[in-house]
Amino acid sequence: MARRRLVYEGKAKTIYAGPEPGTLVQHFKDDATAFNAEKHAIIDGKGVLNNFISEYVMTHLNSVGVPTHFIRRLNMREQLIREVEIIPLEVVVRNVAAGSIAKRLGIEEGTPLPRPIVEYYYKDDKLGDPMVAEEHIAAFNWATAQDLDDMVALALRVNDFLSGLFLGVGIKLVDFKIECGHIYDGDIPRVIVADEISPDSCRLWDVKSGQKFDKDVFRRDLGDLMDGYTEVATRLGVMPEKSIVRSGGPKLVH
Ligand code: UDP
Repeated sequence: MARRRLVYEGKAKTIYAGPEPGTLVQHFKDDATAFNAEKHAIIDGKGVLNNFISEYVMTHLNSVGVPTHFIRRLNMREQLIREVEIIPLEVVVRNVAAGSIAKRLGIEEGTPLPRPIVEYYYKDDKLGDPMVAEEHIAAFNWATAQDLDDMVALALRVNDFLSGLFLGVGIKLVDFKIECGHIYDGDIPRVIVADEISPDSCRLWDVKSGQKFDKDVFRRDLGDLMDGYTEVATRLGVMPEKSIVRSGGPKLVH
């Protein structure tokens, strides 16, 4: 097979040039990182499950009119996406206190928040993705006021839709992160959802038991990360046959 042009190598994903202009191929790796990559492990099959879960979520978002970069899944680990200009911000939406907000504001983890809270983080690994305010974003020109309005509107629509989607399968959407990018309709930039939406980027708790099905299992050494991801994929009805999830599936015999 001809070698593809590498566009970007991230911690959990690799981006290659796509088959047509304006497209890219997003490849999901098995790497898990936490605490700004201080903690790292390879978790066999994680990339496959994130590919399938993110496909499911993005497809449903597209179908309810929340624009995303997702076009279609290509294989076990890859999906075809639209090329966007990534806006260097992470938008986090929280429904229940957990993680950094619980720590920062001294709120007990699991406390429902009075309303969804939206926060921005500046995407910079060297700085550990610091939380920033609209003032910083405007002053340093990371996004326009219109971009921010669009990103918040998208993030809240994603929150409403995903909260219902997960609740339907007995899962509470505690919080999540999205990234957004610009595409151009002619000269007019439009903001769409990019990257992935998966248990790597969401906190997902079992409604009944409170069990964690997300990356906190890895961050906090709570057990086998794959158990939770498998549960999410199974409940959403997208779990591929177990035998082909780990180590990329059947091996070619020479
Ligand atoms: N998150 C993410 N990538 C990041 C930081 C956070 O996907 O670089 C997600 C995280 O999985 C959680 C939400 O954003 O669902 C809020 O994370 P938080 O600020 O609590 O930070 P953490 O405790 O994960 O460091």
